[in-house]
Amino acid sequence: MSFELGLRCRDCGKEFASAPLAGCDECFAPLEVAYDLGAVAWGVRRDDLAARRADMWRYRELLPVTVAGDLPPVGGTPFVATPKLARALGAKQVFVKNDAVNYPTLSFKDRVVAVALRKAREFGFEVVACSSTGNLANAVAAQAAALGLTAYIFVPEELEPAKVANTLVYGAKLIKIAGNYDQVNRLCTEIAASLPWGIVNVNLRPYYAEGSKTVGYEIAEALGWRLPAAVVCPMAGGALIGKIAKAFEELRQLGWAEGDTRFYGAQATGCAPISAAIKAGRCEIEPERPRTIARSLAIGNPADGYYAARLIGESGGWAEDASDEEIVAGMRLLAETEGIFAETAGGVTVACARKLLATGKLDPDQPIVLVITGNGLKTLDAVAPRAEEAPVFAPRLADVQAYLDTAAPAEVTAV
Ligand SMILES: *Cc1c(COP(=O)(O)O)cnc(C)c1O
Ligand SMILES: [Zn+2]
Repeated sequence: MSFELGLRCRDCGKEFASAPLAGCDECFAPLEVAYDLGAVAWGVRRDDLAARRADMWRYRELLPVTVAGDLPPVGGTPFVATPKLARALGAKQVFVKNDAVNYPTLSFKDRVVAVALRKAREFGFEVVACSSTGNLANAVAAQAAALGLTAYIFVPEELEPAKVANTLVYGAKLIKIAGNYDQVNRLCTEIAASLPWGIVNVNLRPYYAEGSKTVGYEIAEALGWRLPAAVVCPMAGGALIGKIAKAFEELRQLGWAEGDTRFYGAQATGCAPISAAIKAGRCEIEPERPRTIARSLAIGNPADGYYAARLIGESGGWAEDASDEEIVAGMRLLAETEGIFAETAGGVTVACARKLLATGKLDPDQPIVLVITGNGLKTLDAVAPRAEEAPVFAPRLADVQAYLDTAAPAEVTAV
């Protein structure tokens, strides 16, 4: 069963019955799902969770869905200690929460869509839609196909080819808009007002965002319910970072976990409205026109930007942003030290962690969790090999031997 009470306005506190709503009708602030945490504490014990299947539905009492039947195994992604990366960054202990291998479309968006589409079904929608910077498109397309829903996906015209192919293959209807994400999103808000569609990040947004909480529950459980000192998280609309914080807060209120966490936001320099606000000491967001290779994070007017900035400030954290070159270097560093191939957003996270450590904003002596949110195979262009990286020889030992002889002795040891 679900312990959802309904929706509550984040600013004025007005309460609403569970429904597809984009925002508060009094003050236009975003809505959030409220739970009866007292009843959750009665209904389930923390130590019962471990016996359940290791995916996001393990935390079903804290999600707004009635879990029945066999649900797809979304979430439950690896949480790994990354000592070589830690050494390279100059930190004692670094962990990676690796949502680059989420099911079924290799990004953390699989979690948010799993909740939103189940809610869409519950509300009786036959058509679902979203505006997307890429990963949401993939997740909605795949899961709508599996659930038998029709999906319309709206994206900015300039999107990575892998993300386009990963949307169309599921039979979703993909509509490219000649504009940036913020223009696509505004269009979807107008569509939500005129068509009977469940739009994942418009009228289903409060439910969509809840799926992100499971990243936080999984991090807490993997650390033996001791909350990490620091979390570094990439930010686009600013929902994920806030929902990891909400997850930690719920766990503290339930008495299931303890510890205080500083939150650190990571953005691309070419689209850094939230990090710019933090650096200027304000929470108000000044919209930007995005220009970055981290297209999944290219939201110039982030819906939850104000709340993300406030959370980061109140937690004692900070924010950083990384240039295109730093993003690629971050992707390579993660791959070369730990064998994890993340997309550009992962490069942003690693690069920003490095800068935060270098400037002393991030404490190198405390455990740090990096949230890796998407897969490198979707943004291959960013690390397109230079010709000299992969030389071609005739299939003759002498030719290859000549090449190996020029390599550094440490790399090639004859047996
Ligand atoms: C959507 C996305 C994010 C950021 O999510 P928000 O909740 O909008 O801040 C981070 N990384 C990747 C890969 C994404 O697709
Ligand atoms: Zn309100």
